[in-house]
Amino acid sequence: MARVVLEQVGKAFRDGRGRTVAAVADVTLDIADGEFLVLVGPSGCGKSTTLRLIAGLEEMTSGTIRIGDRVVNGLEPKDRDIAMVFQNYALYPHLTVFENLAFGLQLRRLPRPEVERRVRGAAGILGLEPLLDRRPRELSGGQRQRVAVGRAMVREPQVFLFDEPLSNLDAQMRVQTRMELARLNDRLGTTMIYVTHDQVEAMTLGDRIVVMHEGRIQQVADPLTLYREPANRFVAGFIGSPPMGFVEGTLDAGRGEFRPDDTPLGTLRPDPIPAAAGSGRAVLGVRPEGWTLTAAGAGDDGPVVELVEPLGAETLLHVAAGASRVVVRVDGLGGWTTGERVGLGLRPGAAHWFDPQTGRALR
Ligand code: ADP
Ligand code: MG
Repeated sequence: MARVVLEQVGKAFRDGRGRTVAAVADVTLDIADGEFLVLVGPSGCGKSTTLRLIAGLEEMTSGTIRIGDRVVNGLEPKDRDIAMVFQNYALYPHLTVFENLAFGLQLRRLPRPEVERRVRGAAGILGLEPLLDRRPRELSGGQRQRVAVGRAMVREPQVFLFDEPLSNLDAQMRVQTRMELARLNDRLGTTMIYVTHDQVEAMTLGDRIVVMHEGRIQQVADPLTLYREPANRFVAGFIGSPPMGFVEGTLDAGRGEFRPDDTPLGTLRPDPIPAAAGSGRAVLGVRPEGWTLTAAGAGDDGPVVELVEPLGAETLLHVAAGASRVVVRVDGLGGWTTGERVGLGLRPGAAHWFDPQTGRALR
């Protein structure tokens, strides 16, 4: 078990034309011993590169990485006391599950009883005992992925690194394996750093979540803080499903009014308006559950329902007002139809404010 510290870590690649591309820039993170930390962000934002720098599979352009009490900058991956699980885990097809789990330990010439102890221990925790004599082709995708995790476990590393390990599994298997990984962290108490592009996976697994965009950290926080207090418009739009809707307009704090540029929305009365939001141009952000909806009184030029998605427990309405598009979450009882005009209002506390130029949250 170990604390992992990244200080101003950067990685630049050269692209095909010889230009330098910053894949990761100025990443500073302090990951506590035993923490489950998730790196999340859209494809290409630098998640895998960050993980590979920690693993020592890529060389840093700048910065320092410490694992436990050692600076590992110059250390080979095998000397860093980490174990990594990838999306494309290659098991040896001709070896049994037991042999797959034992293989790396035998290479390192661990005594046979120690190999037995570690393999049986990991198999027990991962529920692989009944499968130890099978070969990979006789396993389901989820079982194969558990073997890949087991192979990392038997190394008894200081830190586990996971790079989108569940991406190849079907939706049901993904949810189940996700729960197993969360339990594994509780049980082993080993530091885990987990990369995913899936914000639901991030929210359910992480003690803390790091949101990345274009190689840079946007925010580091626990899941609910990310949801309630996104640091900027990028985080606000990335975390939460369906995403937060954004409306540009003019805020008049004195009158307690926000006038969207898209006039079909009418004048909104946000409550409260934080002092930092000031008056003048602003971007209003509202989550799907933050809107109130009225069927009547919208007139012929009010917002219009473009799409109705009945999900059972709730219904999602996609509402258009001029150029603005927002999703409104209502109860599952129905009664809304495509093409209908509606009136939109704000629930108390539902308004998030962003600087129209920088995107920074104003609160
Ligand atoms: P993610 O895992 O978040 O999808 P990556 O860390 O793989 O993103 O990539 C971050 C950026 O660095 C991308 O723009 C990618 O094209 C670039 N990149 C990654 N690896 C290399 C490489 N070996 N050579 C050149 N560019 C790379
Ligand atoms: Mg990646």
